[in-house]
Amino acid sequence: MSYKEIFWMACDSTEQLRAEYGPFHTRNEAELEARKLGFGFLLRYEHIIGETEDIQEVRCIFIELPQSRAAAVRIVRKLHTRCATCGESSVHDEPWQAEVWADIHEFEHSRHRVRLFEQTRTEGLKEIGDWRDKCA
Ligand SMILES: [Zn+2]
Repeated sequence: MSYKEIFWMACDSTEQLRAEYGPFHTRNEAELEARKLGFGFLLRYEHIIGETEDIQEVRCIFIELPQSRAAAVRIVRKLHTRCATCGESSVHDEPWQAEVWADIHEFEHSRHRVRLFEQTRTEGLKEIGDWRDKCA
């Protein structure tokens, strides 16, 4: 008779190079640790163990923790500036960096207009309109 062994890991993403923490025997333990670490995912491992205690099959399922979704999106947010006139572009972490980049670009190239985009993992690239007028 073969039997199934289940254990849980806390992990920070579903990518190949993710950080994992565990193992835990229950989902609750793993979830608690994931929240403490700020990790957004749980990984459920199922080992099918054969008669001679050998692992016959490994299954793993990622489970996204719903409440940490907003935090994960905020972490991966990037600001993209792109000049509508010449197409030159750059990526920034902070709004003020985008502002400085646009100031320099528009100073060096008269009548060029820089547009700002915000990128998040869930929504993709989204333009933020009138951003420079608002800041002025
Ligand atoms: Zn330009």
